This record gives sequence, C-alpha cells and structure tokens, in this order.
Amino acid sequence: MIPSDFIDELLAKTDIVDIIDAYVPLKKSGANYMACCPFHKEKTPSFSVSPSKQFYHCFSCGAHGSALGFVMEHQGLSFVEAVQFLADRTGMTVPQVKGKSENPEVRARRKQQQQTLEETTAAAAAFYQQKLAQDARAAAYLQQRGLSADIIERYGLGYAPDDWQALAGAITPYPNTALMDSGMIIEKEGRHYDRFRDRVMFPIRNPRGQVIGFGGRVLDKGEPKYLNSPETPLFDKGRNLYGLYEGREAIRSAARILVVEGYMDVVALAQFGIGYAVASLGTATTAEHIKLLMRQTDAVYFCFDGDKAGRKAAWRALENALPLLKDDKALHFLFLPAEHDPDSYIRAYGAAAFEDALLHQSQPLSAYFWQALSEPLDLSTQEGKAELIKTSSGLLAQIQAPALAYLLRQELSRLVGIDEHNLARLLGQEAPARRQPSAQNYRLPKETFRQPEMSTLVQKQIRALLINPQWALYTDLPDYLNLDGDLACLACLAERIQASVVPLSSGAVLELMRDSGHQHTVTRLFQEAMRAPEEHPAGSEEDRQAFQDGMRMINVRLMQQQIQALMSRHRQGGLSDEEKTLLTRLLHSQHTPDAH
Ligand SMILES: [Zn+2]
Repeated sequence: MIPSDFIDELLAKTDIVDIIDAYVPLKKSGANYMACCPFHKEKTPSFSVSPSKQFYHCFSCGAHGSALGFVMEHQGLSFVEAVQFLADRTGMTVPQVKGKSENPEVRARRKQQQQTLEETTAAAAAFYQQKLAQDARAAAYLQQRGLSADIIERYGLGYAPDDWQALAGAITPYPNTALMDSGMIIEKEGRHYDRFRDRVMFPIRNPRGQVIGFGGRVLDKGEPKYLNSPETPLFDKGRNLYGLYEGREAIRSAARILVVEGYMDVVALAQFGIGYAVASLGTATTAEHIKLLMRQTDAVYFCFDGDKAGRKAAWRALENALPLLKDDKALHFLFLPAEHDPDSYIRAYGAAAFEDALLHQSQPLSAYFWQALSEPLDLSTQEGKAELIKTSSGLLAQIQAPALAYLLRQELSRLVGIDEHNLARLLGQEAPARRQPSAQNYRLPKETFRQPEMSTLVQKQIRALLINPQWALYTDLPDYLNLDGDLACLACLAERIQASVVPLSSGAVLELMRDSGHQHTVTRLFQEAMRAPEEHPAGSEEDRQAFQDGMRMINVRLMQQQIQALMSRHRQGGLSDEEKTLLTRLLHSQHTPDAH
C-alpha cells in the first residue's frame, strides 16, 4: 500500500507532457498538446494532453488519465510499478507502509544489489548475443528453425558457448556474488561454473525491458532440453511472462494476448507475424500471471497442447482465473491437436490458419468450464447431475464478475434441470449480499437519489470538481447521512481532495479515485466533461460561485428530504429521541438565512 499523500506529491512533481512526449511525440495546439492516439489507430490526432490539468484524453476512444495512468496503460505496468517508474524519474523514494517501514539504508542497499544484478544479466545477454554471431553451429540451428535476423534481434537471442567458464570472458571477477545471486553460475564442491553451456539463450525481460533471467535450449540432444534461471531477487517466475516486453506493440494493436507454453513457441509465432504471444516460465499460470495478462488487454487466449498435460495446465489456469474474472474481460482456451504445439502447428499450416483456429475454434471460458466439468459425468443420471452441482458450486462461488456468475448459474440450472430459484437454495445463496458496514447510519429514502433534477445537478458538480479540484473546499455534505449513488461519489471525491496536503491537478484527482469504488462514475463523468468542454466551468470567479450555489442547492434538497422522511415516520409514531433532536435541528436550520 502506497500512501495517497505520496502519490499526490509524486504527481505534483511530474509533468505529464514530459512523460507522454517520451513515447508519443506531442505537438502544441493552443493551451494543450495533441498527437495521434497511442491507444487506438487513427490518422488525425484526437489525443490531447493538458499541461495545466495534468491529464490526457482521447476524444475518439475516450482513453484518459493522469501521468501515472498513462504509464500503466501504455507500458503495461501495474500501479506499484508505475509509481516506482515515476519515482525513479523524479528521484523520489517510494515509502513502504506495509508493516514496519523499511530502513532507508536497507532499501538503498537492496536497490544497489538489484542494480548490480541487472548489470550482470545485461552483460551476460550481450555476451551471449555476440557469441551467437560467432558460432556457425548455433546460427545454423536458428536458421534451420526459420528465424530471421530481425526476430533474433528483437528477442535478443544468444548462444552460451560449450565452455565451463565462458562468462569469465565477459564479467570479472569470476566468480563474483552478483553472478551467483543472479543464478548465472553454479558452485559445486568449491568450484564455480556457468549454469548455461552449449545452449541457445532466450533472455527473459521484465516489463521495463531489463533482462532478469534466461531460458536456454539445447542445440541437439542433451538433457534437460530446456533450462531456466532459478528464482532470484530479480526473477520471480510467478510474476513474469516471457515475451511480454517484446510483444507490447503487437498486443496493443491486435487487442489480444496469447499465452503459450514455451519460449520457442513465442519466437516462432512472432516469426510468422503473430507477435502477441507470451509464455509462462516453467510454471503453471499463476493468479499473478492472470492479473498481469488482464492488465494488458481485454481478450486473453490460452493455447495448450491437446495432450493430458496440456488439459491439466489449462484447468489450472482457469481455476486461478476464476476469482479474478471481470465482465469486460474475455478468456478463451484453444487446444491444438495432440501431435502439435504452436511452433509445429504454425509451421505446418501457416499464420492465417493459426489465427483462424484461435478466433473460431477456441472455447470461451464458460464453455470450457462446463465441458471440462461434465465430460467425466453422465448427465442423463441423477447421480451425474448431483455430482455436477457438487463440483461446480465451489468454483462458481469464487466468481466475482456479476454477469458471468449469473450466466454460469443459469447454464448449470439448464444442465441439471433444476430451476434457478431452487438451485440458488441448493448452492446456499439465498442470503442477501452483505453490505459494507458504515459509520453513517442515517438513511434517506432511495427516491432522494433518483430524482432526475437532483441527479443532473450532482453529476454537474462532480464534473466541475474533477476539472477544478480546488473547489472541494466548498463542498460540505452532511456526514451522518448514508449517501448513495452519485452523491456518495461526490462526497468521496470531495473528502479525498480535502484530505490531500498538496494542491491537486485533475490528473492527480483521477488517481485519487482509482480504488474508491466510484471509479466507474468518475470515468463516465470525466468523459462527459471532456466531450463538452464548452460546458465545463473554466474556473472563473463566476463559475466558482455557480459551483457553491449548486452545493447549497444539494444540501437544501437533502435537508428537505430528511425532514419529510422524519415527519412521515413521526406521524407513524416511530421516532427515537435522537431522531427527534435531529428533526428539531433540521427544522430550525431550514429557517436560518445561512441555508436559504
Ligand atoms: Zn484514442
């Protein structure tokens, strides 16, 4: 958890124009900067960056956000990685608030170690690349696999010579701690030697492009066929995917990502023009992998061999994905004929056939889910149906995506022939969803939040506040009220801005709302504000006055609603002493000039 104060300060010290310009050359246009949008294909620029508000927005596809959001989207980094990226640029140190904060000296030492390891793996990668160019046998091997110089270069392929201490020629002293800690050398009975010998080398890069480990494949016979770097302080297998860095552009332009089993598959697919494939690194697909994949794009395809091991790996991936599924993300599973892997398949049938299979023969997660579960069962018998309910219920319970969960339950109901209502009871789902406990305990009737003019006004205020965060000062909603819908969003927005110690730009406010539970509303209203720039207040004295009037109006309406609700309960004789006091106070303040 990174404190939001730090994010505020980080964004205050970062200029979004610098950040974006490094990836997408910007042209000044009036008060803003423009470019062709990096998030969708276009010929005329509709991507705008506001230096004063510190946000970007695409008028065509609606992509928008802060400098942090841009780095996340464009570089495919997680929130924490993006924070680290910007902090490195501005020379700030990201505070650790998980448990005890880390001693700055320890942190500095760790960072230093990290850097030394990265330098070591980078030097090894360069050495292997150079050796590949000098070794006719290795070069012939790659050529025979059909790999072009371009692909070899893009993936940084190399060759580890058939020599016990080849790395001594690139890294001195040999041995050293960094060579040990990065897993490049092995110690046995006091002797040190290279882990990788006589192998084609596949450098594994992190999302920032740094080499964190290697995969090595034997040239001809020899065991093991594939050898990977061990887990090291740099290389966490469960959190990295081979080919992600190299495939970023292709993933974005295809709007999908393909997960295969081996790094040779990734490279072979890229050779045939399918550059959006990645591979896990000798591990099953972990939950962290799934998160990483879903951050890249909305459509994730898994391609596994059709054999038993492939089926098992696919099911593991599905199980790990269930709790993380979102209704706007689609997962698909493709099983190749048993005798093929992607490498051999694409060589035999070509890229068009492969993509055609991917798009038309893969199963969406929901179909694969039921197929895999019902395959071993006889659903024409009562026992088979009971077994399906038993095996699926625990899995269904893990799904958080509401629409998908509903559709899967509906399908289960069809498969076992029990109506949804009874099935829900069988699955133990009749209890209503638990609500978040709240300090605010006074509830207004639902209609309050649904009145159209109220709703329009609240949305207008949110838009104004997103564009002019400094106006949070003028928001003052009753804090004992249990607010709902857009009003809850407005209150949360105002509260978070007020809690900040530095003045916030609009971009920083978007960040502030990232985990608020109101991000959807904020996104929608921000886009609306951007679509009608002439309507959103420019920040003049007059605009501020209008905003204040709007807040006052909302408060008056809330108060009237409360009074009505209390009066009607009073008539039924149901007011507590506390509520009576509240009613008296409200009736009184309604007539004071301050509240109009
Ligand atoms: Zn766009």
